[in-house]
Amino acid sequence: MKVAIVGAGITGCLLANFLDLKSIDVSIFEKSRGFGGRASTKQTDWGQCDLGATIVPAQQAGFMNFMGTLCAQDRVSQWPKNIFVSQQTTDIKQPLEIFVSDKEYYVFNSKMNAACRYWTKNAKVQSNNLISQIRYIVGKGWQLKSNGVWQEKLFDKVVLTAPWPQSQALIEQSELSMKLPDFSQSWTSCWSIALKLDQLVASGVDLVYLKEQSIRTLVRDSGKPLRPQTFDADTGRKSEIWVAQLTNKLSDDLGKEGKDKAISIATKGLCELFDVPIKSVLNTYGHYWRYARPREGQKPLGILNQQKYGLYAGGDWSFGATIESAHEAALSLSQAIIMGE
Ligand SMILES: Cc1cc2nc3c(=O)[nH]c(=O)nc-3n(C[C@H](O)[C@H](O)[C@H](O)COP(=O)(O)OP(=O)(O)OC[C@H]3O[C@@H](n4cnc5c(N)ncnc54)[C@H](O)[C@@H]3O)c2cc1C
Repeated sequence: MKVAIVGAGITGCLLANFLDLKSIDVSIFEKSRGFGGRASTKQTDWGQCDLGATIVPAQQAGFMNFMGTLCAQDRVSQWPKNIFVSQQTTDIKQPLEIFVSDKEYYVFNSKMNAACRYWTKNAKVQSNNLISQIRYIVGKGWQLKSNGVWQEKLFDKVVLTAPWPQSQALIEQSELSMKLPDFSQSWTSCWSIALKLDQLVASGVDLVYLKEQSIRTLVRDSGKPLRPQTFDADTGRKSEIWVAQLTNKLSDDLGKEGKDKAISIATKGLCELFDVPIKSVLNTYGHYWRYARPREGQKPLGILNQQKYGLYAGGDWSFGATIESAHEAALSLSQAIIMGE
């Protein structure tokens, strides 16, 4: 059986791994250069930083077991241990409070998209390949249009793991007569800002959720296990990298053009919270994410399974909006494909 997977985020790469374990021939098509999708890591000339998904909270027993197995293989580490909440506003200073949670927390070693390469090691990997159309040829199988050209190779099954709006468009253009579920999505954005500091700050703090600020999360990115050490190029002293994620509302207001403003807000917010001078910030890097998420009150859709045609779709949107839900989608998709063989 030949399977084509569209999208090499966590869902697509993990699915490739599950199918590979059943000796299924997998080709994976990714429009970007790198793998990982929204779990991506940026290498700048002054250090490495995870600018998308930053930690992996695990709630359900099955996912905790899965992450436990990856831990035993040194592919993930349990981190962070020291999570805090800040109720501080711009006017009123407040001490950090300990964040209480029944979840377990992990990060991938030694960057958030590292496992994607491992999971796809036996797949035929095609990066820089945007799939703009798919079509079903009766009695033959699926054909994909990649970078504007119909590929010669035909597949028995095709799995769309792109976000729902992109997957939905591909299904609609495929001209198969099928009724698609009404799955209401809205677009939002998030500015993710990496800041390199010339000194170690906030000892004993790994991550802070900010409740009353323009920043929603601050994470000591270079404090994650097995990250490369960073140094101040001028003094040779050990430095560190934090990543600030601005709130969706503020990011929407700033838009893609608001990079300078986003960097300045993140810099000011971090320096105020940790009482460090602005000049401690040596370097910054900003990434603007724009993504669809289920509308408020919209129940997760589950995976789409058109076994009759060998067409499947799923992603984090099938079960939520996190890496845990991407794992659940990959598992459900693999079961549907294997059972429908
Ligand atoms: C700023 C930010 C912070 C986050 N923080 C966390 C966190 O801390 N913890 C957590 O658990 N989750 C977090 N998330 C959510 C998490 O990143 C996602 O749930 C998860 O990565 C989704 O994986 P996926 O494979 O389903 O989708 P994606 O990562 O979106 O992967 C889909 C892939 O499909 C590719 N693609 C799309 N269309 C096409 C096409 N036509 N042809 C070829 N390829 C295509 C895309 O390039 C992409 O690589 C965060 C997300 C963002 C944006």
